[in-house]
Amino acid sequence: MAQHSLPDLAFLTNRAQVALQRIGVTLPRGTDFYARSPITGDSLFALRSTTSVEADQAVAAAHSAFRTWRSTPAPRRGELVRRLGELLREHKGDVADLIAIEAGKIRSEALGEVQEMIDICDFAVGLSRQLYGRTIASERPGHRLAESWHPLGVVGVISAFNFPAAVWSWNTAVALVCGNAVVWKPSERTPLTSLVCSQLLARAADDVGAPRDVHRLLLGDRMVGEILVADPRVGLVSATGSTRMGREVGPRVAARFGRSLLELGGNNASIVSPSADLDLAIRGIVFAAVGTAGQRCTTLRRLIVHREIVAPLVARLTDAYRKLPIGSPFDENTRVGPLISTGALENMQRALARVQADGGKILVGGSRRLTEAAPQAAYAEPALVLVDDQKGVVREETFAPILYVLTYNTLDEAIALHNDVPQGLSSSIFTRNQEEAEVFLSSEGSDCGIANVNIGTSGAEIGGAFGGEKETGGGRESGSDAWRAYMRSATNTVNYSGGLTLAQNVNFL
Ligand code: NAD
Repeated sequence: MAQHSLPDLAFLTNRAQVALQRIGVTLPRGTDFYARSPITGDSLFALRSTTSVEADQAVAAAHSAFRTWRSTPAPRRGELVRRLGELLREHKGDVADLIAIEAGKIRSEALGEVQEMIDICDFAVGLSRQLYGRTIASERPGHRLAESWHPLGVVGVISAFNFPAAVWSWNTAVALVCGNAVVWKPSERTPLTSLVCSQLLARAADDVGAPRDVHRLLLGDRMVGEILVADPRVGLVSATGSTRMGREVGPRVAARFGRSLLELGGNNASIVSPSADLDLAIRGIVFAAVGTAGQRCTTLRRLIVHREIVAPLVARLTDAYRKLPIGSPFDENTRVGPLISTGALENMQRALARVQADGGKILVGGSRRLTEAAPQAAYAEPALVLVDDQKGVVREETFAPILYVLTYNTLDEAIALHNDVPQGLSSSIFTRNQEEAEVFLSSEGSDCGIANVNIGTSGAEIGGAFGGEKETGGGRESGSDAWRAYMRSATNTVNYSGGLTLAQNVNFL
């Protein structure tokens, strides 16, 4: 596997400072935690967390802003999101730089993340004129029965490190046009990215005359997130992260009868049928398994291959893996950047040791790279592992580039293997057999929230609803009618008959 030289701390600090200055962010300096870069493993800036008193004030301010925002006409609320989209276009490179520096994404993927933010802004502007309810046929003469949709209040957004900006924008753009205020607790690993996003939205608010407090940012670790989770003024908690986090957040929000929208871990698989176009499949598989160094919720983690084609497919994949350039996200030839931390590398190595103890065979990859150039960073060769059955660690999400290869004989067997894991986020089948494709997409097929044909499991567009089933949490964000999760509906019966007719023919007074 090829490798590229790394930038040093001065380069990273300088590049981050330039982006922060261009966007007009003043850092909250302190000694609570550090903005770090996984590219070298160095700390860049020491920062201050939001205190519990400040968090309480932020929720109060957002709640108060909501009271005026909810009565601003929705198309005018769309103006705020339109302006945010314009500012993101203007500062696309700056935001992408910070994503690359803090999350370690290669620059083309970091730019793609900002493009996704721009796309959801466009979508939400259109949505601001389409928040429609239904009119229902009433059983009573002279009555109109209809549903209307209203904002929830304050939406709390808790987000993960691996999509430090896009997940915020999916939630925020839609929540704002729906008439909510937003309080955001980003990952403690990506504070700089969250500061620039927040600043761009504040500028957009000033530019269009919207209340600044419709959006507030809370910095810090999970303890700060727990404040949002516990606050009864937060009507919806939209939490993206590990299943462990969702297990803690979901019951706490439910205990106070709040709503939660959970976007949790995945263990995504692709089936490769004997009829598949292997050239296309290899490209789709490698991007899905290795992109973002295996740190996407939709990363391909299991490949279920028909026994007839496993040998040629594995040979070609092994060859492709050997050629993957690993190194600096700022080098345009790099395809694999760093893992987020040395802890993530240790998890990867533990998973590889467990799968080997269970009889799995590493075909390629798995070693640490660039140890001398960046001893505090965590670069790893993506690993391809042949396994006989789906047990132990293969059933878990290891947030690293490990692809387990399983084999099958019949499509029924492949689908059973596919669905036999606790997670249910993304899935795909590579096939040129239409019947197989349709079965995979039917209710007897994939049990995931995302099911694709002839593309990999990652790289969703914002127009569709995004989310997964089972331990992935059941939430839906982004496009389609996911907006309904950010609103409450009211059923309205209007009597214009002049008399009082009770439903179900009840006689009373
Ligand atoms: P994480 O669960 O460690 O942290 C996510 C966020 O939750 C952080 O902001 C963290 O501070 C906060 N948090 C953690 N425990 C909390 C608690 N008890 N109360 C309130 N807040 C709490 O996840 P991570 O390591 O940042 O991200 C990787 C994980 O996120 C993977 O499992 C990945 O699959 C998942 N993810 C899912 C999606 C999706 O849409 N399904 C998208 C991106 C990432």
